[in-house]
Order: sequence, then C-alpha cells, then structure tokens
Amino acid sequence: ALKAGIVGLPNVGKSTLFNALTSAKALAANYPFATKDPNVGIITVPDPRLDKLAELVNPQKVQPTTIEIVDIAGLIKGASQGEGLGNQFLANIREVDAIVHVVRCFDEGNVVHVDGNVDPVRDKETIDTELLLKDIETVEKQVDRFKRQAKSNNKEDLRNLEISQKILAHLEDEKPARAIELDEAGQALLKEMFLLTAKPILYVCNVEEDAVNDGNEHSERFKAAVAGEPAEVILVSAAIEADIAELETKEERLEFLNDMGLDEPGVNRVIRATYKLLNLITYFTAGVKEVRAWTIQDGWKAPQAAGVIHTDFEKGFIRAEVIKYNDYVSLGSEQAVKEAGKMAVEGKEYVVTDGDVMHFRFNV
Ligand code: GDP
Repeated sequence: ALKAGIVGLPNVGKSTLFNALTSAKALAANYPFATKDPNVGIITVPDPRLDKLAELVNPQKVQPTTIEIVDIAGLIKGASQGEGLGNQFLANIREVDAIVHVVRCFDEGNVVHVDGNVDPVRDKETIDTELLLKDIETVEKQVDRFKRQAKSNNKEDLRNLEISQKILAHLEDEKPARAIELDEAGQALLKEMFLLTAKPILYVCNVEEDAVNDGNEHSERFKAAVAGEPAEVILVSAAIEADIAELETKEERLEFLNDMGLDEPGVNRVIRATYKLLNLITYFTAGVKEVRAWTIQDGWKAPQAAGVIHTDFEKGFIRAEVIKYNDYVSLGSEQAVKEAGKMAVEGKEYVVTDGDVMHFRFNV
C-alpha cells in the first residue's frame, strides 16, 4: 500500500499531528503492523459520500477506507552526514511515497525550538538541505557508474550519463528533483534513483488555535517562500486537533468545532490532501451487508480495482456494473438507477473513476 511520511524538525508538532491523524484506534487495532511499529499509523479517510450511501442503503456495516502514515521523527541538521541517526531517518523517508512536511508556526515560549526561535522558512531549508545533500550523494554515485559504463560508448550508457549529469546539476543548483523537467527516458531513470526530493510534498503549517483560519505572520511568510513550488500549504493547529481527537462522541466533536468556527477537523483537510498527493481515488461497494469505500490508484482499470477486494475478483474478472455516485444519490437506490437505465456494464478496459459505485462479476 502507498504511504505518506510526516517529516519536520524536532518539536514542531509532528507526533501531535500524527496522533490526531491516527486517532481512530479501534480501527487501527485490526492491522497487525499498527501495534508492531508505533511510528506507522492507519488513517481513516473521511468521506461524506460514504455516509450518504450508508444513509440510503442502511447496511449492517459501514467501512471507510484507510491510508498509512509514518511518523519520521528526528530529522536534524547534519542528518545526511549521519548525525542523530540521520541515515536511518533518511532511509525511512526513502520508503514513503509522499511527504507531509510539518513546520512550526506557533510561538509558544515554553516549547523549545531546536534552533532558538520560530522561523518556518529557515526550518524548511534545513530539512531541504539534508534531503538535497543525500540526493546529491546518490546521484554522484550514479554519475560515476555511468561514466565507467559509458567508456564502451554504448548509446544507452551515454544517454544515462547525460541524464544523471543533468539531474546532478539541477540538485547542485539547490532545486528539488521533483521540479526537474525530463523526457520520458529521463523520468524513468529518475524514478529508479528513488531520490528523496523527487517525492510529492505538501506543507502543514502548525499554528496556534486563533490562526487556523487566517494564518499568522509566520505562516504568511512561509506561504510566500514556497509560492513557486507545486505544493499545497495547509494550516492546522496540531494541539487543537489532538484535543478534538480525544473527544469521545461525534456530537462533542461537532460542538467543539462549532465553538472554534470550523466546519470540520483540520486533519480532514490534511488527509484529503495526502490522498491526492498519493494519486489515490475511491470507489464504493454498496450492499445491505456492507457499504464500503476502497482505495485505488488513479488510472486503474476495473480488474485491477476489483483485485483490491480479492485477487479472485481480478483473476476471474468478467465485467463490472458501474453506477456514478451522483446518479445513485439523486435516484436513491440501485433499483431506481437500473430502472432509469443509468447502470453501465463495463469490461476489462474500463478505467475506474472517483466515486464509482461498483459491482464485480467474476468466474471462480
Ligand atoms: P515533534 O517533535 O515534532 O513530534 O513535536 P511534538 O508533537 O512532540 O510537539 C512538541 C511540543 O509542542 C509538545 O509539547 C506539544 O504539546 C507542543 N505542540 C504541538 N503542537 C502545538 C500547537 O499547535 N500549539 C502549541 N502551543 N503547542 C504545540
């Protein structure tokens, strides 16, 4: 499964946010690895469409979909040189598919900042530098390797040398690999290098509670500094999110949010943005036993999507019956959709779209 990693300097609120994100503990307990590794959490993906389908079908069980998140604590200056378990942390980042970078934008005096004062732009640069240095090291090795291989004048080796030198120059110019422009062959080679700065990223500004809507001086400065990057910036107060996560009932949460002038927890925005960052979409199955959301990658065809439920569904795939979410909701039931002639029968080449309500037919 694809997963995202939370990175940031110490004391910026990563663990607080991680705990708020993964607070659906009952659900996480179903997953063996959730207890094995305390730094890997399961996030329930909030989706109002699932609630709406459940309301219409009234099933015995409603099952939201989940994604994995890793709390990659401890990244500090010098990590690329192995400072403070640096290599370990960088290795952890290498394993995730997207990065949620948390920066501290709250001024609380009694929470010590590792570099003395609150400055999210400097903090981001500290982390960027470590990731860049590590990537430069990785690409330098590749360049050396291709140099040796290119002595034979093999066309492909020469091309690889050229591409890797281009990537190296780009990184040495202090630009992340995700911003480099390459042709298809170049992209393929880049992908094989598993560079840290090639991963898609989003930023979370951790602000005080009175700044969650409009931000503050730190978050404004931060936004301006990253304006040129293809990355979303989300304002959240990790401390409030942790408070919300501790409330037992939905009613209590709603009341708390109301008092704060919010319509949903900030973590929901972080989760949705992370989902998008991972290039994930959701389809639904809706039966009286269970209404359920399933996660697939954008672009997957029907058999592959069916395989998420069971490998037999993929192997024996015959066809899929597909109802668009909006049709389901406006007509009110599967039966009504069928009568209106709005249920499509699709074959192996059908590309599933976000919100499809699916039935799979398969041979066993
Ligand atoms: P990490 O080292 O990045 O994982 O940071 P933690 O989540 O452990 O938070 C470090 C300290 O900052 C803890 O004492 C938190 O209670 C506090 N903290 C985290 N988020 C906020 C916030 O939004 N506002 C305030 N005032 N304190 C926070």
